[in-house]
Amino acid sequence: MTSTAFTNIQTLVTNSEELGEGALGLITGATVVVEDGTVVAVSRNTPNGVDSEVDCSEKTLLPGFVDSHTHLIFAGDRADEFAARSKGAQYTAGGIATTVNATRSASNETLRANAQRLLNEALSFGTTTIEIKSGYGLNESDERRSIDIASDFTDETTLLAAHVIPVEFREDPDAYVELIIEKIIPQSTAKWIDVFCDQGAFSIDQSRRILSAGIAQGMKPRIHANQLQRTDSIQLAVELDAISADHLSASTDEDIAALAASSVVATLLPGAEFSTQHEGKLGRKFLDAGAHVAIATDCNPGSSFTTSMPFCIAAAVSLLGFTVEEAVHAATLGGARALGRTDIGKIDIGTRADFALLSTPSYIHLAYRPGVNIVSQTYKSGTAVTQWQK
Ligand SMILES: [Zn+2]
Repeated sequence: MTSTAFTNIQTLVTNSEELGEGALGLITGATVVVEDGTVVAVSRNTPNGVDSEVDCSEKTLLPGFVDSHTHLIFAGDRADEFAARSKGAQYTAGGIATTVNATRSASNETLRANAQRLLNEALSFGTTTIEIKSGYGLNESDERRSIDIASDFTDETTLLAAHVIPVEFREDPDAYVELIIEKIIPQSTAKWIDVFCDQGAFSIDQSRRILSAGIAQGMKPRIHANQLQRTDSIQLAVELDAISADHLSASTDEDIAALAASSVVATLLPGAEFSTQHEGKLGRKFLDAGAHVAIATDCNPGSSFTTSMPFCIAAAVSLLGFTVEEAVHAATLGGARALGRTDIGKIDIGTRADFALLSTPSYIHLAYRPGVNIVSQTYKSGTAVTQWQK
């Protein structure tokens, strides 16, 4: 058994209201003891007989970020599309086809190396758990290999074969829906099933059929909802008991109330709102309605090419109307909830010792110092890590 004590922590974020102050469960001058990758004590006392000690004077320790929405298996980039938006072009679902072409023609090694590079970035910004979607293959073999590669990096894999209708099925979209239901879902080893239910993507009826087929196969549903246009996608998420509905940018007050009255997590994606120049304090509405809220990066080459959860915290505060406390909570415990996980997102007895250690005395600097990486070290299961591993 090996033990480590994180001592003299200026600000400890536990996310436990029983342990500390407020929704973030704050404790000053705390010590956290880890044994074999698990938190075994949270106190103000320095324990005797630990194997090693990490002095956290003037630093902040918080649960590692849980990024519950990414699209990391792809090749190529779409910098030109981003530049066009800066000149007034609108974001549409159509740009995804560019990435599909690049991904299909890339080797496994290229896709794996690209994912590893992005995951190392995410880790350097304090992310310790990540969800990864397929969705740039859009055929049997490329969706399968996308999930296979994602599985090398995380257990939180999501089949998003229903990302857009691939070009070869434009004349007959329902034939692609059949392919997903008959061939792609039955072969898939993904944990989650997702659909981009929106204008230019999949209809409510198509989405219901695809998600239901995934559920019948043992997958749990999540959904891209109301990003570009308002549909009944939140109602579908509630109907199918989805763990999370994501994006939600075009939601009405009725949609927000319906979601808040359910157990579905509202996952907001500040990087996408930033990158597509969406306006409005979207987060405030969900928070005020009492919804369970998560934030995630939506890391993808089209609409949100960031791996940084601290950046998303800053964007949630400035664009989406979160308080700093709400954004930090949504990026840690909120993300854990959006993945149905109770072992992460908190620092409490029995949780995994996944931490982000900040070089600053407060978590406020996550939003106050935008674009600056204040994560001095990321710990997975109590061990300092710099290369992402599952
Ligand atoms: Zn997405």
